Amino acid sequence: VEFGWSAAEAAYRSAIRDSLRRIVPPDRGRYRASLEHSAEASRAVCERLAESGDLVPHWPIEWGGSAASAWRQVILGEEMWRVGEPRAPQYLNINFIGPAISRFGTEDQRQRFLPRIAAGQALWCQGFSEPDAGSDLSRIRTTATPVEGGYVVRGVKLWISYADVAEHCFLLARVPTVVDAARGDKRRRTLFLVDMDSPGITVKEIASVIGRHVFHEVRFDDVFVATNRRLGEAGQGWAVVRAALADERASAPEYRQAEAALDAALAASDAEDAAVGEAYLRCAGARLLAYEIVSQQRDGKSSPVASQARAYLHRARRATGEALEQRLADTGLDAWTEGVELLNGVISGVAGGAYEVLLDASTRWRAKEG
Ligand SMILES: Cc1cc2nc3c(=O)[nH]c(=O)nc-3n(C[C@H](O)[C@H](O)[C@H](O)COP(=O)(O)OP(=O)(O)OC[C@H]3O[C@@H](n4cnc5c(N)ncnc54)[C@H](O)[C@@H]3O)c2cc1C
Repeated sequence: VEFGWSAAEAAYRSAIRDSLRRIVPPDRGRYRASLEHSAEASRAVCERLAESGDLVPHWPIEWGGSAASAWRQVILGEEMWRVGEPRAPQYLNINFIGPAISRFGTEDQRQRFLPRIAAGQALWCQGFSEPDAGSDLSRIRTTATPVEGGYVVRGVKLWISYADVAEHCFLLARVPTVVDAARGDKRRRTLFLVDMDSPGITVKEIASVIGRHVFHEVRFDDVFVATNRRLGEAGQGWAVVRAALADERASAPEYRQAEAALDAALAASDAEDAAVGEAYLRCAGARLLAYEIVSQQRDGKSSPVASQARAYLHRARRATGEALEQRLADTGLDAWTEGVELLNGVISGVAGGAYEVLLDASTRWRAKEG
């Protein structure tokens, strides 16, 4: 086990940090991506990162990347989250939608979508959750019915971030049953790359305590989607979703944002505080589990660590919110930082799968593996 960074990796981190100091407005670090986002701000930052080769370094060279190691992607992600993930909403495209298109897409789909993502200009949203399906995506009801030349999509997606600004939707729907003769099972889940200006799509903002423009309901009323916008084979959606969720989990080192908030609290007053110490400890645990996922992904393994890491991250964020709340009372720490971290402590237990469901997944795996 090697926990250290090489000299080249340390130099890379310091170069990214310097470049972010130049291109990210100083107060941006106070905001969490999904709490406060702007398409213009995201493009301004991402276009400059693309110019310096720091937007998609982990992508293949032919699609604008430099085939950088997964550890460089971790360093890049940590530095981004340290300043509030200024790529948002584009972190979806960069970290898992683009890689899914690269892996499962046709040549035409790659040519059509990847260059714009790699240039820092594309805005996507992720259309998975529904009124009765979030942690358990096997319950989605949105249908894609085959018609001549494509599909007609009908259904409602809920809690969709960035739907107000997105140009495309990474949409999960059900097609009529496909029987996989080789495996002897039936499949329906399928991914589509849908233009958000297609006739029949309606986006409505859902008011929430988290903030404005965070959540949306997206209705699909008989929306035509051409066959060449289906990602992968009909019924192959699970494989795409699994790969996308694994990439998403490995590429959101949120513990770094929590640590940055704790650092700010200490800078305001270095009085000893057990709650702050506890929060740092949880962040350190979340970091180690996140590194284990990266290491396993590199070796092509899957395990309960992905669920455990996400669940533990929630504990880290919650501990951070609680520590900062106490600190605010004691030292008069900036109320905005404290408020955002308290919200993050709640959000992290739901977004990306409910905390209890992640615990169940981890327990089931242990029971199976022994
Ligand atoms: C900030 C934010 C942004 C989001 N953005 C998107 C987006 O862009 N695209 C998208 O598709 N979705 C998005 N979501 C939705 C998110 O993926 C879902 O909220 C999440 O998967 C949980 O699903 P759910 O809301 O249906 O809750 P459920 O899975 O129904 O869980 C709700 C609650 O029920 C309880 N519960 C559920 N199952 C169990 C169990 N087995 N044991 C014990 N208790 C249980 C838990 O208390 C849980 O907190 C976002 C959510 C948030 C908070």
